[in-house]
Amino acid sequence: MSEAPVERLIPISALQHYAFCPRQCALIHNEQVWAENFLTVHGQLLHQRVDNGEPETRKGVRYERGLVVSAPLLGLTGKLDLLEKELASGKLTPVEYKRGRPKKGDYDSVQLCAQVLCLEEMTGQTITQGALWYWQTRKREVVPIHDALRKRTLGLLEAIENLFLVGKTPKAVHGKHCKACSLLDICNPLINQNDSSEDYVAGLFNLENKSMDDEN
Ligand code: SF4
Repeated sequence: MSEAPVERLIPISALQHYAFCPRQCALIHNEQVWAENFLTVHGQLLHQRVDNGEPETRKGVRYERGLVVSAPLLGLTGKLDLLEKELASGKLTPVEYKRGRPKKGDYDSVQLCAQVLCLEEMTGQTITQGALWYWQTRKREVVPIHDALRKRTLGLLEAIENLFLVGKTPKAVHGKHCKACSLLDICNPLINQNDSSEDYVAGLFNLENKSMDDEN
């Protein structure tokens, strides 16, 4: 990790978006495209309910909601749904609320691990676990923050830094996950994945540059 603060902080949500689909991440965070569907609206309502809760202390645990975290050295920033702090030990556990049920992909765990990395930079504490709470199953799942998950999360962070630097939106790769994507109508993956017009235009510019070089 660099010792100098990173200029553009990456939102934690971008890691989740990139893990779901790199094109979705680029459309949302580079091109500022957003569209709502039932899943996103329902998710937002759930988060509003969680974020609006007052801080409280119960049975030796402090509960803070809607906490903004920032890790300038790592280059990450975001908001926690809930942070639990055991008052006796100082142990911190971030809790992320999800509208659905546990998924096959690791998107949710990556998001939680990114929250942990932010908290660790802010507090100097090593955090060994977080938790995911699923609205549909009404179950809380403990997520160990192990080395493999940390490595995966840092790898995604690096990939997103490159994506933002290059500024090019990846082509669509149509798959089952597209059904749950709020950008499906805008992205048009079945058409976009076979569309070579972008390469064609880039090729024209390359030819033009080459002929200018030859003339010089
Ligand atoms: S529709 Fe599919 S390919 Fe397009 S952004 Fe969404 S998940 Fe990615």
